[in-house]
Amino acid sequence: MSRSAVRAIAPYVAGNSIEEVRRRFGHARIVKLASNENPLGSSPLALAALRSADLLHLYLDDAYEELRERLGEREGLHAENVVLGHGSNELINTIAQSFLDPGDEAVIADPTFSLYRSAVSLVGAIPVEVPLLNGVHDIERMLAAVGPRTKAFFVCDPNNPTGTFLSPPVWSALFERLSPEVLLVIDRAYAEYLEAPGFELARAVRERGNIVVLRTMSKAYGLASLRFGYAYGDRESIGWLQRVRLPFNVSRPAAIGAAAALDDIAFLEKSVLLNASERSRVTAELERRGHHCYPSGANFYAVTVPIAAHAAYEALLERGIIVRSGDALRMPGRLRVTVGTPEENDAFLAALDAVTSGGGA
Ligand SMILES: *Cc1c(COP(=O)(O)O)cnc(C)c1O
Repeated sequence: MSRSAVRAIAPYVAGNSIEEVRRRFGHARIVKLASNENPLGSSPLALAALRSADLLHLYLDDAYEELRERLGEREGLHAENVVLGHGSNELINTIAQSFLDPGDEAVIADPTFSLYRSAVSLVGAIPVEVPLLNGVHDIERMLAAVGPRTKAFFVCDPNNPTGTFLSPPVWSALFERLSPEVLLVIDRAYAEYLEAPGFELARAVRERGNIVVLRTMSKAYGLASLRFGYAYGDRESIGWLQRVRLPFNVSRPAAIGAAAALDDIAFLEKSVLLNASERSRVTAELERRGHHCYPSGANFYAVTVPIAAHAAYEALLERGIIVRSGDALRMPGRLRVTVGTPEENDAFLAALDAVTSGGGA
């Protein structure tokens, strides 16, 4: 029998795959707007570098000093401030394993990325969940939920699944009022898509300490399948994560692809620009039709539907459009939809019109 903490966690449910939907409905063309992937594919420089990746028979130089130095430099930090991960998802588990004892508390928002809750629960710690306020982290109430047993405080910014982000005054209040004893974990999987960073997190790393900022190359760099993420933070916190992570957790191809993608400024700019223009176009179209979207700083948006979210999701699936139902993301009444190419977004809008106008499936 597994540990009781294992029995208590819900399995992670990913979005449907294209293959699965094709098997079920047989559509020739399927539009996947479910997992916040880059609709332009991967960085071409990364793909080119991966084609010549070799030495797979050798264990790697696990320190990746040069790559960590480079990632650190982008924030005005050093290699000692950076730890690499098999995607940033792995690092969420590593954080829980490194910092939380059984019975410790971690303050998180609800709804937010589901892995925080499961990672915290898995080590026997207690997730203290604070509802969002109008789709945004309720930092006042989250601060009020901090008690003597609080060891960690998670902020997902932009937040998955709502896409919302904190304003500069809220960041300042958070840094002023959160006890320096509490580890602050900030997940910035969608940082590239934010128009303004909100707060200079590297400054908080230098001045506050006890902070870990998660980043990924799965989204704006288009490398979700490669599995490369990293975290930067104060030297001490990063040092503990280095000690706990598995040896060789980042493969050579992942490191090679990530390094090449960092050079691919053109691909990143194109991805971010497309996202910004399509996000504002599609959400304006949706608002015009009477749907509400939370303001999004990410490559997805959370939109209301006038029928049950699960019914809308199923009806869209039948039309070959994959999105996420808010019912499965603790966000009832809404869908979470990735910003796609103009054609993909138009296909979604047309299908949503059909599904919600009574002519639905
Ligand atoms: C997509 C996403 C990630 C990225 O995970 P990887 O393991 O790096 O692919 C992390 N956090 C959030 C909130 C996400 O939405």
